[in-house]
Amino acid sequence: MKKIIVIGAGASGMMAAVSAKSFGGKDVDVYVLERNEYPGKKILATGNGKCNFTNIVQGPLCYRSSNPDFAWDAVLQFPAQSTIRFFLELGIYSVNRNGYLYPASGQASSVRDVLTMEMKRLGVHVLTNVFVEKVEAEGNGFCVYTKEKTFAADKVILACGGKAASYTGSDGNGYAHAEMFGHTIVPVLPALVQLRCKEKVYKKLSGVRSACKISLFSHQECVAQDSGELQLTDYGISGIPVFQVSRFAAQALREGKEVSALLDFAPDFSKEQFLDFLKRRIQSRPKKNVEEFLIGCFHKKLCDCWIYISRIDKAKLVIELTDDELEKLVRIIKEFKTTVVNVNSFDQAQVCAGGVDTKEVCVRTMESKLKKGLFFAGEILDVDGMCGGYNLQWAWSSGYLAGKHAAQ
Ligand SMILES: Cc1cc2nc3c(=O)[nH]c(=O)nc-3n(C[C@H](O)[C@H](O)[C@H](O)COP(=O)(O)OP(=O)(O)OC[C@H]3O[C@@H](n4cnc5c(N)ncnc54)[C@H](O)[C@@H]3O)c2cc1C
Repeated sequence: MKKIIVIGAGASGMMAAVSAKSFGGKDVDVYVLERNEYPGKKILATGNGKCNFTNIVQGPLCYRSSNPDFAWDAVLQFPAQSTIRFFLELGIYSVNRNGYLYPASGQASSVRDVLTMEMKRLGVHVLTNVFVEKVEAEGNGFCVYTKEKTFAADKVILACGGKAASYTGSDGNGYAHAEMFGHTIVPVLPALVQLRCKEKVYKKLSGVRSACKISLFSHQECVAQDSGELQLTDYGISGIPVFQVSRFAAQALREGKEVSALLDFAPDFSKEQFLDFLKRRIQSRPKKNVEEFLIGCFHKKLCDCWIYISRIDKAKLVIELTDDELEKLVRIIKEFKTTVVNVNSFDQAQVCAGGVDTKEVCVRTMESKLKKGLFFAGEILDVDGMCGGYNLQWAWSSGYLAGKHAAQ
């Protein structure tokens, strides 16, 4: 009987184990070795405890990598529809929120539970509190070393995760196992993470939320854009649109580039439309002063900040504003420039960019091109998805392929 060892019982490892045993049946013995006391610790934290497990809107640009086609080619072999069907068979009804899918229970634990139940039903051996220290080639197979025991295996699936949220067990130690077999690690950086900005105004804006379009610049070039609810913190900016552009900020900062962002707090208007809107508002409220004038359109803390930056006297009546002053306000509100000095740490990031170079991995099988019998699944690979269920979709797709082909 062929013995398959999966290292890591996260989303990708559990999927790989289920897939390996489903395809291999009686011919394979599948072990999952997990350092935590229970499987799927990170799954429990996903989607604010609700687990956004996939997204029905899919496309190549939802997945990022230094080898851009790889992820999408893999996802197409086990796409979102397969994920939905797979979890439905395990008992999960899904709720669709603007394309983002969640289990109907509203509990991330449902996803973890059905996977652990399925592993049990199939006869997968799940060993917890087992930290894999080393993996070595042994004849045609492998030796997997833990403190207590050495396991022999015909196939090994590395599903140890990346470096984000190390409190869930993924601290980047898996990269060393891949390097032992000659694999290259594309520099690993925090992604889906908050941005730290230079300006002092953030201390006063902490806690504010606002609709916003963010454009991220590396030197003078716009490298990413997104829209949604911006969250201001005492050190900078957060929220889904910030997460979506953060991996590009991390990359540019690593390359020593100057990184800035333009924040558009009136994203539904062009500059001309917004100027026109302000002029009409002045006509209908001529007796208001500058401080009172924007109340009801934007958060008061934002209004105060913009007026302060514009250096316009807040007691001035709006009817007395000059064209230059109005245009200045429009520029500040629609093109608020902020300097990005850093991204938050791996522990605050939802995922990481970078990892095992996918050029060294077969896209059809997830098998290493450098070492036969060694497979990869999940975030350990140089693939990061956009925020919105794409990272779990990557875990399901890559785990499915790795398990299936390790078993065959
Ligand atoms: C707060 C938060 C919210 C998120 N929300 C979402 C969301 O809603 N939707 C989405 O798509 N994505 C989300 N993500 C991202 C998603 O959770 C991950 O991309 C995905 O879980 C990665 O799965 P994985 O199996 O590759 O790695 P992991 O889940 O990190 O699993 C790796 C496992 O390997 C174990 N391990 C590591 N090294 C060893 C070793 N040497 N020996 C034994 N075991 C080892 C770890 O303990 C861990 O259990 C979120 C992430 C975070 C942190």
